[in-house]
Amino acid sequence: MPEIKLEIKVFGEAVLRKKAKPVNRVTAEHRQILSLMAQTMYQGEGIGLAAPQVGISEQLIVVDIGEGLYKLINPKIVKRQGWQAMNEGCLSVPGVSIKVKRAKQVLVQARDENNDLVKIQADGLFACVLQHEIDHLRGKLIVDYASLLEKLRIKRKLAEVKKRIK
Ligand code: ZN
Repeated sequence: MPEIKLEIKVFGEAVLRKKAKPVNRVTAEHRQILSLMAQTMYQGEGIGLAAPQVGISEQLIVVDIGEGLYKLINPKIVKRQGWQAMNEGCLSVPGVSIKVKRAKQVLVQARDENNDLVKIQADGLFACVLQHEIDHLRGKLIVDYASLLEKLRIKRKLAEVKKRIK
Protein backbone atom coordinates (compact mmCIF):
# COMPACT_ATOMS: atom_id res chain seq x y z
CA MET A 1 0.00 0.00 0.00
CA PRO A 2 1.55 3.33 -1.03
CA GLU A 3 1.78 6.06 1.56
CA ILE A 4 -1.05 8.21 0.31
CA LYS A 5 -2.52 10.71 2.68
CA LEU A 6 -6.09 11.73 2.10
CA GLU A 7 -6.91 15.38 2.62
CA ILE A 8 -8.97 16.10 5.72
CA LYS A 9 -11.98 18.32 5.17
CA VAL A 10 -12.50 20.93 7.84
CA PHE A 11 -15.40 22.75 9.46
CA GLY A 12 -17.15 24.92 6.89
CA GLU A 13 -16.83 22.47 4.00
CA ALA A 14 -20.18 21.31 2.62
CA VAL A 15 -19.38 17.58 2.48
CA LEU A 16 -19.21 17.45 6.30
CA ARG A 17 -22.86 18.49 6.47
CA LYS A 18 -24.17 16.07 3.86
CA LYS A 19 -25.89 12.80 4.75
CA ALA A 20 -23.57 10.00 3.63
CA LYS A 21 -24.96 7.36 1.26
CA PRO A 22 -25.29 3.77 2.43
CA VAL A 23 -23.05 1.27 0.62
CA ASN A 24 -25.06 -1.29 -1.35
CA ARG A 25 -22.26 -3.67 -2.17
CA VAL A 26 -18.80 -3.66 -0.63
CA THR A 27 -16.19 -3.49 -3.39
CA ALA A 28 -12.39 -3.52 -3.63
CA GLU A 29 -12.58 0.25 -3.94
CA HIS A 30 -14.32 0.51 -0.55
CA ARG A 31 -11.63 -1.69 0.98
CA GLN A 32 -8.96 0.57 -0.47
CA ILE A 33 -10.69 3.71 0.81
CA LEU A 34 -10.98 2.16 4.29
CA SER A 35 -7.24 1.39 4.32
CA LEU A 36 -6.36 4.91 3.23
CA MET A 37 -8.74 6.31 5.85
CA ALA A 38 -6.98 4.25 8.54
CA GLN A 39 -3.58 5.57 7.39
CA THR A 40 -4.90 9.11 7.44
CA MET A 41 -6.37 8.62 10.92
CA TYR A 42 -3.07 7.29 12.30
CA GLN A 43 -1.08 10.08 10.65
CA GLY A 44 -3.42 12.64 12.22
CA GLU A 45 -3.16 10.85 15.57
CA GLY A 46 -6.91 10.43 15.61
CA ILE A 47 -8.86 7.53 17.09
CA GLY A 48 -11.64 7.59 14.52
CA LEU A 49 -12.38 8.89 11.04
CA ALA A 50 -15.50 8.95 8.87
CA ALA A 51 -15.48 9.03 5.04
CA PRO A 52 -17.13 12.50 4.75
CA GLN A 53 -14.05 13.84 6.58
CA VAL A 54 -11.98 12.92 3.54
CA GLY A 55 -14.59 14.18 1.10
CA ILE A 56 -16.32 10.85 0.43
CA SER A 57 -20.04 10.92 1.15
CA GLU A 58 -20.47 7.20 1.86
CA GLN A 59 -21.17 5.34 5.09
CA LEU A 60 -17.65 4.19 5.97
CA ILE A 61 -15.83 4.68 9.28
CA VAL A 62 -12.57 3.55 10.87
CA VAL A 63 -11.98 3.45 14.62
CA ASP A 64 -8.96 2.48 16.73
CA ILE A 65 -8.78 3.48 20.36
CA GLY A 66 -5.60 1.45 20.81
CA GLU A 67 -7.35 -1.92 20.97
CA GLY A 68 -7.30 -2.77 17.28
CA LEU A 69 -8.59 -1.30 14.06
CA TYR A 70 -12.25 -1.48 13.11
CA LYS A 71 -13.32 -0.77 9.53
CA LEU A 72 -17.09 -0.48 9.42
CA ILE A 73 -19.58 -0.05 6.61
CA ASN A 74 -23.15 1.24 7.11
CA PRO A 75 -22.74 1.33 10.91
CA LYS A 76 -25.95 1.79 12.87
CA ILE A 77 -26.64 2.11 16.59
CA VAL A 78 -29.27 -0.45 17.50
CA LYS A 79 -29.15 -0.10 21.28
CA ARG A 80 -28.10 2.61 23.74
CA GLN A 81 -27.66 2.50 27.49
CA GLY A 82 -26.65 4.98 30.19
CA TRP A 83 -24.96 8.35 29.85
CA GLN A 84 -21.46 9.77 29.85
CA ALA A 85 -19.90 13.11 28.95
CA MET A 86 -16.41 13.35 27.49
CA ASN A 87 -14.30 16.12 26.02
CA GLU A 88 -14.13 15.37 22.33
CA GLY A 89 -11.91 16.64 19.58
CA CYS A 90 -12.24 16.11 15.86
CA LEU A 91 -9.69 16.08 13.02
CA SER A 92 -12.14 18.24 11.05
CA VAL A 93 -12.39 20.84 13.81
CA PRO A 94 -8.73 21.22 14.81
CA GLY A 95 -7.96 23.00 18.05
CA VAL A 96 -11.50 22.71 19.39
CA SER A 97 -12.75 20.43 22.14
CA ILE A 98 -16.35 20.16 23.27
CA LYS A 99 -17.89 18.24 26.12
CA VAL A 100 -20.45 15.92 24.55
CA LYS A 101 -23.08 13.90 26.38
CA ARG A 102 -23.63 10.51 24.79
CA ALA A 103 -24.75 7.00 25.60
CA LYS A 104 -22.29 5.10 27.83
CA GLN A 105 -22.88 1.82 26.03
CA VAL A 106 -23.97 1.13 22.51
CA LEU A 107 -24.63 -1.87 20.36
CA VAL A 108 -23.59 -1.15 16.79
CA GLN A 109 -24.53 -3.18 13.77
CA ALA A 110 -22.48 -2.86 10.59
CA ARG A 111 -20.85 -4.71 7.72
CA ASP A 112 -17.16 -5.44 7.74
CA GLU A 113 -14.95 -5.19 4.66
CA ASN A 114 -15.87 -8.76 3.67
CA ASN A 115 -19.51 -7.69 3.61
CA ASP A 116 -20.25 -9.81 6.69
CA LEU A 117 -22.72 -8.53 9.26
CA VAL A 118 -21.00 -7.66 12.56
CA LYS A 119 -22.35 -6.58 15.93
CA ILE A 120 -20.15 -4.59 18.27
CA GLN A 121 -20.87 -4.02 21.94
CA ALA A 122 -18.99 -0.91 23.04
CA ASP A 123 -18.54 0.91 26.32
CA GLY A 124 -16.85 4.12 27.51
CA LEU A 125 -14.38 5.71 25.09
CA PHE A 126 -15.05 3.12 22.37
CA ALA A 127 -18.80 3.83 22.54
CA CYS A 128 -18.07 7.55 22.45
CA VAL A 129 -15.93 7.33 19.31
CA LEU A 130 -18.41 5.11 17.50
CA GLN A 131 -21.21 7.60 18.19
CA HIS A 132 -18.97 10.50 17.10
CA GLU A 133 -18.12 8.81 13.78
CA ILE A 134 -21.71 7.75 13.11
CA ASP A 135 -22.71 11.39 13.72
CA HIS A 136 -20.38 12.36 10.85
CA LEU A 137 -22.38 10.11 8.52
CA ARG A 138 -25.46 12.16 9.34
CA GLY A 139 -23.69 15.48 8.84
CA LYS A 140 -23.41 16.16 12.54
CA LEU A 141 -20.32 17.67 14.22
CA ILE A 142 -19.19 18.20 17.82
CA VAL A 143 -19.80 21.94 17.51
CA ASP A 144 -23.52 21.15 17.27
CA TYR A 145 -23.38 20.01 20.89
CA ALA A 146 -21.79 23.23 22.15
CA SER A 147 -23.63 25.32 24.71
CA LEU A 148 -24.14 29.01 24.06
CA LEU A 149 -21.09 29.85 26.15
CA GLU A 150 -18.97 27.25 24.42
CA LYS A 151 -20.11 28.60 21.05
CA LEU A 152 -18.78 32.02 22.03
CA ARG A 153 -15.56 30.47 23.31
CA ILE A 154 -14.82 28.61 20.05
CA LYS A 155 -16.09 31.25 17.62
CA ARG A 156 -12.66 32.66 16.79
CA LYS A 157 -11.10 29.19 16.52
CA LEU A 158 -13.79 28.15 14.05
CA ALA A 159 -13.21 31.27 11.98
CA GLU A 160 -9.50 30.37 11.85
CA VAL A 161 -10.31 26.82 10.78
CA LYS A 162 -12.56 28.10 7.98
CA LYS A 163 -9.70 30.20 6.62
CA ARG A 164 -7.82 26.99 5.84
CA ILE A 165 -10.38 25.98 3.20
CA LYS A 166 -8.85 26.22 -0.24
ZN1 ZN B 1 -14.89 13.95 14.05
